[in-house]
Amino acid sequence: MRIDGTTKVCGVIGNPIAHTMSPQIHNFLAEKIGIHMAYLPFLVEKEGLSDAIKGAYALDVLGLNVTIPFKSDVLPLLCGVDDLAAQIGAVNTLVRKDEGFYGYNTDMPGLYRAMCSDGISLEGEKVLILGAGGAARAVAMMLAQKGVSEIRMLNRTLEKAQAIASEIEGATGKKIVIPMELGAYRELPEDEKFIAIQATNVGMHPNEGVAILSEKDFYDHVRVGYDLVYNPLETRFMQLVRESGGKAYHGLKMLLYQGIIAFELWTGTQVPEEIANETYAVVLDLMQKKEKQ
Ligand code: NAP
Repeated sequence: MRIDGTTKVCGVIGNPIAHTMSPQIHNFLAEKIGIHMAYLPFLVEKEGLSDAIKGAYALDVLGLNVTIPFKSDVLPLLCGVDDLAAQIGAVNTLVRKDEGFYGYNTDMPGLYRAMCSDGISLEGEKVLILGAGGAARAVAMMLAQKGVSEIRMLNRTLEKAQAIASEIEGATGKKIVIPMELGAYRELPEDEKFIAIQATNVGMHPNEGVAILSEKDFYDHVRVGYDLVYNPLETRFMQLVRESGGKAYHGLKMLLYQGIIAFELWTGTQVPEEIANETYAVVLDLMQKKEKQ
């Protein structure tokens, strides 16, 4: 990478940040597409968030990604947010404008592009979402917009799934989300198969080897299982989906595409699919090496 007086700077803010794979994704993309930019990780303390945003703007930073725990806290520090980010109530990408940083949420378009790339179509499908946290809520919004016919949201805390169901009904005018307790999967119509999206942190490193549901009866309802977790690359949820004859995917492509969409917003370029695939191979290799350490 050539760094000189004209290099544009982008980065990611979060806490912790050492585990991030975003620098590898963006610096590889910049190199491949020929954009003169460098992407860095920035560890930010909670009380320093406002200074960090002001400082980055003053330093002519072109764009930032925002990760845990700042995706909602950063909202009041921005000059505006796009409609999707406002609906989701969280941003993960800041783009420099004349008035300040403007916020986007590329996580959900990222999941959608990842699913398209894996050949999963959503229109008219029945989907199960496991979880009712921030990611599950955003996934439900995305699915409602992409024309799925029904979403069953299963969560340990039923009230959270109920709140999301009402919110989505308010936003779309459709009663598309059916809230359920985890064990209520037993009430699913017997022969019906679903796309299941695993949106809890159960099974995530370092608590590997467990799944949010472990009963085979549940997995018999799963045709495609999509885990948002990508560390580890093979979760217990994915194993259980495969053992019951379903296809299983991890969340690494979602991570890749949320990054690609952010990169496109900052640079005004369109990342060709061959370069997206090459970048995916690099990130997958990195993850596999990390897992062996
Ligand atoms: P969150 O808001 O904290 O929500 C956590 C969810 O997990 C809640 O539904 C919670 O249930 C459930 N849960 C946690 N521990 C549980 C347990 N022991 N038993 C049953 N349910 C449990 O988290 P989030 O931000 O939505 O993130 C969820 C997952 O999505 C994380 O693994 C994250 O890494 C992943 N994610 C991946 C990407 C990507 O690019 N691939 C992007 C965003 C998020 P209760 O409501 O009952 O507490």
